[in-house]
Amino acid sequence: MDRKEKVQNLLSGVKKIILKVGSAVITEEDKGLDYQVLQNLTYEINKLYKAGYKIVLVSSGAIACGRAKLKYFKKPISLTEKQALAAIGQAALIQAYEDMFQQYEIQVAQVLLTSEDLSQRERYLNAKKTLETLLKWKIVPIVNENDTVTTEGIRFSDNDILSALVAGTVEADILIVLSDVDSLYREDPRINPQAERIKEVEEITPEIMNMAGVKPGRLGRGGMYSKLLSAQMVTSMGIPMVILPGRAPLILEKFWSGEDVGTIFWAKERKLNMRKLWIKYYIKPEGKLIIDQGAEKAILENGKSLLIGGIVNVEGNFSKGACVECINLKGKPLAKGLINFSAQELLKLKISAERINKEVIHRDNLVILD
Ligand code: GLU
Repeated sequence: MDRKEKVQNLLSGVKKIILKVGSAVITEEDKGLDYQVLQNLTYEINKLYKAGYKIVLVSSGAIACGRAKLKYFKKPISLTEKQALAAIGQAALIQAYEDMFQQYEIQVAQVLLTSEDLSQRERYLNAKKTLETLLKWKIVPIVNENDTVTTEGIRFSDNDILSALVAGTVEADILIVLSDVDSLYREDPRINPQAERIKEVEEITPEIMNMAGVKPGRLGRGGMYSKLLSAQMVTSMGIPMVILPGRAPLILEKFWSGEDVGTIFWAKERKLNMRKLWIKYYIKPEGKLIIDQGAEKAILENGKSLLIGGIVNVEGNFSKGACVECINLKGKPLAKGLINFSAQELLKLKISAERINKEVIHRDNLVILD
C-alpha cells in the first residue's frame, strides 16, 4: 500500500480527532491572534464537524494573546508574569473561538487542565467523563493548560505533551498537530532549508529522536523534540499522530484527500491496558526504589510483582499509593508502579523480621519502561 492508500485507510476508521494548534500558528509575533489563520482553522473544523467527526481542540496562544492585549513585549518574562498574561490572554483566546464558531452554530467549551488533573486517578477519570460528555453533546472542547495556577515543577512540559495526554484520555483515533514547523525533517529546516522531509515514521528510533533539535518554536514551549515524545506516547497507545503545516490554507482537507503533506507517525499495536498506560505516561514518580538483580529478573523476565526482599535502597519521601520508579544497581530505570507502603513504612519493614515476601508493588500496578 502506498502512503495515500494507507492514509485513506486510516481515516476511514477515524471518528474522534484531537487537533493541537500551537501559539506560533494562530498568533503573529507581538501582534496577537492571526484572524485569517483562525478563520481557516474554524472553517476546516466546521467541515469535519458537519461530517460527523468528534473534535477536541487543544489550543495554545494564551500567553501570546495576553502579551499583545497589554502590549507587554518585555523578554524574558518571569513565571509569574507569564501566569498573569495567560489569565488575560485565555479570555481573549476563548472569546475569539466563541465568535468564530458561532458563525457555524458550533458550541464550544473551555477546559483548562493542570498535570495533577490527569495524574490523580479520580481527577483523571472525572476529566475523562467530562470530556466524553461534551463530545456526546456535540460540543467542541477547547483545551489549554491552566497556566495561571501551575508551578514549574508540576506543569505539563508543553501543549504537545498535553495534547498527547488528552488524546489518550478520550481514546482518540488520531492526534493532528498543526505546527509552524510543518513536518519532521532530517535536520532542523530553520538551519538547513534544504533538509529532507520525513513523510512517515513506523518506529521512533534513536535516529529519529536525533533529528529533532532541542530548540523550541518561536512562541510556544514545545519543539520538534517534544512532538516526538508525544508521538512516542500516542503511537504506543495505538493512536497515530500527524504533524501538518498549521498556517497552510485548507491543510486538513489536503490531508484528508491523501495529499503528500506533513509527517505521519503510524500507530503501534497497544500492548498495555489504559490503566497501565496511565501509570506509564500520566504520573510523575515521587521516589525511587533501587532493586537487586533477583528482583530485576523477577519483574522483567518473569512478570512478577515486586517484593520487599529485592529492595536495596529507598529514595524520596512518598506516601502509600504514590508512584515510584524502580532502578537497577547500575542506575537504569526499569519500571514504574504504585506502591503499597509509604517510604517510612518501607524503611521500617526492611529491618523487621516480617519483611520476607511482602508485596511492595503488585504486578497490575507495575509497568515496565522501554
Ligand atoms: N499554554 C501556553 C499558552 O497558552 C502555551 C504552552 C505551549 O506553547 O506549549 O500560551
